Amino acid sequence: MSVVRILFPLPLPEPFDYEVPEGLSAPPGSYVTAPLGKTERTGVVWAVGEDKEGRKLKAITDVLPARPMPADMRAFIDFAAKYTVNPPGNVLAMALRARAALRPSPTETVYRLSGEAPARMTPSREAVLGAIQPHEALSGAELAERAGVSTGVIKGLVEAGSLQMLKRAVDTPYAAPDPSKTGFDLTGEQAAAAEALRQAVEAGGFAPFLLDGVTGSGKTEVYFEAIAAALKASADAQVLVLLPEIALTQAILERFEKRFGAAPVAWHSGLADKERRRAWREVNEGRARIVVGARSALFLPFQALKLIIVDEEHDGSYKQEDGVTYHARDLAVMRAKLADAEVVLASATPALESAVNAEQGRFKHLKLAARPGSARLPDVDLIDLRADPPEKGNWLSPTLSNAMLETYAAGEQSLLFLNRRGYAPLILCKACGEKLKSPGTDSWLTEHRYTGRLVCHLTGWSMPKPTHCPKCGAEGSLTGIGPGVERVAEEARVLLPDARIAIFSSDTAQTGADTRAIVDRMADGEIDVLIGTQIVAKGHNFPGLTLVGVVDADSGMKGGDLRAGERTFQLLSQVAGRAGRAEKPGRALIQTYAPENPAMIALAMGDRDGFLAVERDVRAELGLPPFGRMAAIILSAPSVEMVTETGLAIARAAPNGEGVVVYGPAEPPIAILRGRHRRRFLIQAPRNVDLSAYMAAWQKRLKLPATVRMSVDIDPYSFL
Ligand code: ADP
Repeated sequence: MSVVRILFPLPLPEPFDYEVPEGLSAPPGSYVTAPLGKTERTGVVWAVGEDKEGRKLKAITDVLPARPMPADMRAFIDFAAKYTVNPPGNVLAMALRARAALRPSPTETVYRLSGEAPARMTPSREAVLGAIQPHEALSGAELAERAGVSTGVIKGLVEAGSLQMLKRAVDTPYAAPDPSKTGFDLTGEQAAAAEALRQAVEAGGFAPFLLDGVTGSGKTEVYFEAIAAALKASADAQVLVLLPEIALTQAILERFEKRFGAAPVAWHSGLADKERRRAWREVNEGRARIVVGARSALFLPFQALKLIIVDEEHDGSYKQEDGVTYHARDLAVMRAKLADAEVVLASATPALESAVNAEQGRFKHLKLAARPGSARLPDVDLIDLRADPPEKGNWLSPTLSNAMLETYAAGEQSLLFLNRRGYAPLILCKACGEKLKSPGTDSWLTEHRYTGRLVCHLTGWSMPKPTHCPKCGAEGSLTGIGPGVERVAEEARVLLPDARIAIFSSDTAQTGADTRAIVDRMADGEIDVLIGTQIVAKGHNFPGLTLVGVVDADSGMKGGDLRAGERTFQLLSQVAGRAGRAEKPGRALIQTYAPENPAMIALAMGDRDGFLAVERDVRAELGLPPFGRMAAIILSAPSVEMVTETGLAIARAAPNGEGVVVYGPAEPPIAILRGRHRRRFLIQAPRNVDLSAYMAAWQKRLKLPATVRMSVDIDPYSFL
């Protein structure tokens, strides 16, 4: 009798042993069904188990007709579980996001010509027979629509023997990319970088790179060459390209299609079930060759992964904050290592972690210093808001306003950046001083004028703007404080009454199509002034854009976040980098109250390396990541008493660890969220400590009340 260890996509501590009945074969990685408790569950054969005498084991019930999960993927799941301090089943659940793909594709009925004419011809029959090509097979609905007839006519033609009915799989394979197509003629430095990537992917094996090139220097073109080389090197090679917020980056998908003659396979949370099933199956069968996806694409079951690209590797959205918390960049490097693949982290503003890895030789460092052709990096100037303040009630300083007037007069485009959605980020009652908060949550409500609502950006809760103050009842006393993009747009309209002004934020671009429309209008010169949140920073090419204005450069600097300076620098560099991407030179004006801040000085000087060096020294001095390790515990409970008590109990249970320092429990900035009271711990350790193992040992000692929720976050990016 053979025994297998089955891992289920559930929060269980380990795989369970099952018997494999006569007639079934379940090698490691097989997807199987097996009884668990009262139900039948899908799991994966994690290992072949030991056949110990005298055990009564349940038997697996079926082996599903999908290619088994490769060993490197299983090793990756085990690694990710250990690293993030999660049961492996929780990670497996992320890898099984399309269970229907484990079974054959559903089929549909399609029709094609038999070649025989019907005994009786009518005008509708003629229309149907004329609407379908000899080599085509169409569904009834499609054919009826083309011919402009009812489906009854099609039925009649089947009976008459002129149409054949056949079954076809609904999930068809994707068109294959063509790696022999060529791209641009590369510049010297582009060609050198592309050559290094090509050689490594041809040689095979784990090879990590940092592709570090200024905005618009052609990083995408360079990694296209690596993709082409990987696809050429072996007929089954698969490539994964991670992008931040892929639902919003239609333009880049089109670039792929142009370059490789076929659209890449997309993977993100917005996919419909059918597309998800199709994509998952095609990746698992090894037929999907280029996958472009959001962070969750790391958990797709590639059979022969040869290359991973992490584009905009510094982007904060690579950190998953709910459920299993992980950083997709870090896991991508591990995934590549376990798959013996090349991994390329690309950015104009690398994360300090990546810069240090390059500096210390763990990543090969490829640099692109220039934009191709006549495109130049923009000049960046700071506007000291203390010396050059906007008029009362305005947000744009005279210098920025004048620059916008000049730009408009020259027939060029401006972009104003402010990372705040809505009209005003705070609502205050002028009568009693009350600031309106979201119910049961430590978060101010934001006024949205277009919708007339007050919205909590943390939880999504909203209500119509009340006419009276909910606290003191005063009428008409609620005033919006501070600017959001809608308010800046209002000011821009006064400044430039004839200009075409548009707002670009997640409120105006809720779908991929909306985003596309705004980006296209801007790229085609149909917008004079675009006012946007961080959504504008992401890789768009706007050839006519020559002025970027940053309305409030200091807004991201507040709070005790260790990466606040770094993040501000990255975001503002990216935003500034939207200007001057074609022949016309660009400039960026940055409004700040803190022009002496190192991040602002570095932006003005274009001294990224200097900035990174200062950040690096500070972090090294304090033992902060990447020079030390960090973890967080986030605790929540329905009452203050319970969260306080449990917090203290958790603190008392902390294991001793060489050099490990535990801070907390502390009240975080968001002390209440959706009615639950929260506490945080921060744990710091030297680099040589296995902090994941330490956290796992700690967690093992705890027995928490059922209503308390605790999550562990290794290498936290959010401190709220
Ligand atoms: P990055 O990814 O570094 O921001 P891109 O790859 O998007 O840069 O390149 C910026 C722009 O320059 C794109 O429109 C791209 O098509 C163009 N480009 C890049 N390299 C070349 C080249 N060698 N010749 C012509 N155009 C190029």
